[in-house]
Amino acid sequence: MVGAGTMGAGIAQLGAAAGMETQLHDPDAEALERGLEDGVSPASGLDELAGCELIVEAAPERRELKRDLFSRLSGIAPDAVLATNTSSIPVTALASAAARPELVVGMHFFNPPAKMRLVEVIAAAQTGDQALRAAESCAEAMGKRVIRAGDGPGFLVNRCGRPFGAEALRLLTERVATVEQIDRICRLGGGFRMGPFELMDLVGIDVGLEVAKSFTELSFGEPRWRPSPLQQRMVDAGRLGRKSGRGWYEYGDGRHRARDPEPSGEPPPWAEVRGAAEAAGLRWSGQRSPSMRRDPSITGYYLLPGARLVELSGARSEQAEELFTSMGLEVEWLACDAPGGVAGRIVCQLVNEAAFAIGEGAGSAEDVDAGMTLGLNHPRGPVAWGQAIGPEEVLVTIEALWAERREERYRSAPLLRRAVARGVSLEEAAG
Ligand code: NAD
Repeated sequence: MVGAGTMGAGIAQLGAAAGMETQLHDPDAEALERGLEDGVSPASGLDELAGCELIVEAAPERRELKRDLFSRLSGIAPDAVLATNTSSIPVTALASAAARPELVVGMHFFNPPAKMRLVEVIAAAQTGDQALRAAESCAEAMGKRVIRAGDGPGFLVNRCGRPFGAEALRLLTERVATVEQIDRICRLGGGFRMGPFELMDLVGIDVGLEVAKSFTELSFGEPRWRPSPLQQRMVDAGRLGRKSGRGWYEYGDGRHRARDPEPSGEPPPWAEVRGAAEAAGLRWSGQRSPSMRRDPSITGYYLLPGARLVELSGARSEQAEELFTSMGLEVEWLACDAPGGVAGRIVCQLVNEAAFAIGEGAGSAEDVDAGMTLGLNHPRGPVAWGQAIGPEEVLVTIEALWAERREERYRSAPLLRRAVARGVSLEEAAG
């Protein structure tokens, strides 16, 4: 193991626990000392790793530093498989620095490595079977679920997770809802453990901005992945999130937000609520925003399967509010109307991104869902979301966003359109 920081120390510990003979190297003697756990032996120089079969690198995220390491390691251990834990540098660009690029592979662990059950194995353009097998069997021996990801921006998991924050920022820009509302809706209406803004504060808004810049650069400007000017503004203001005491929320002595209500029993069945809403003359907001139609007296609503909260928009209606609260649902009024509301729009864009990723061969449908649930703690994977909502409903929402905004970020994925045309799931459409 090369690099004994947050990730390296954790990964070395996993290796030792799995019964592998494990050595750890870090040029910083203090970091090395801190990173040593039972069963892990220190390597004071890189050359001490000469006898290794597999070397995993978790050094700082700098391309030239990593390339230099790969070049040196391939001289020290010419037959070893060299894996990188990079989260954003193309593995292909690192492999080309090694004497035998076919032995280089990506092994992307999640933080903290001991707890997170997922490892993404990434094949660079040059990666051979031996390297892939070594990475997979090592991760499996560590008790991880292995998924295979293509060597594109964010690999599979971080790529498919982009819309969670990106759409939240767009919703805020369009003033559809406030920061607190969007987070609350994602928790209660989407079942996410944390709202997108709370998550941005936890990760660091500056870190999030850099990730978005890197995606844009690597994709030569893909509109879905562009950073938001709001992120830049927060960074300019020094509001970086928890670490600076203030981000989207203030982090003082008390809680940064109110506690959510305790769930009282199971949420009412989706079909039942939708039936009652239609009967009361309310309009589903998956289609074009009700307020963009001729009749401003319409109340729109959006509700995801399994939700404990319904979003309302358009004409204020006490009757609508009562209807939903009587069914045991929380209610949130949006400031303005937009297709899919908040949670629906975020989730439909998650499904759409997954459809792009699967269609482009970045990963399989099964791996996408395993990645999002195990790697990002989403309540369900995007393929499962797509099935629960129905691919057609997802497409209707994306197309409505496109129709109102005419922005390329709201173009629908070919695989999603194909699934709808054939009346099958994303998984079937891909196979
Ligand atoms: P870190 O800063 O905690 O640790 C990096 C370690 O590398 C430090 O101990 C440092 O002394 C050491 N180091 C510096 N120069 C070195 C060199 N030339 N050779 C070997 N070691 C050197 O960083 P981290 O969070 O553990 O991240 C390491 C890698 O893992 C990065 O590529 C990062 O993108 C990736 N990653 C991080 C996370 C995360 O959440 N922290 C998650 C997945 C992947």
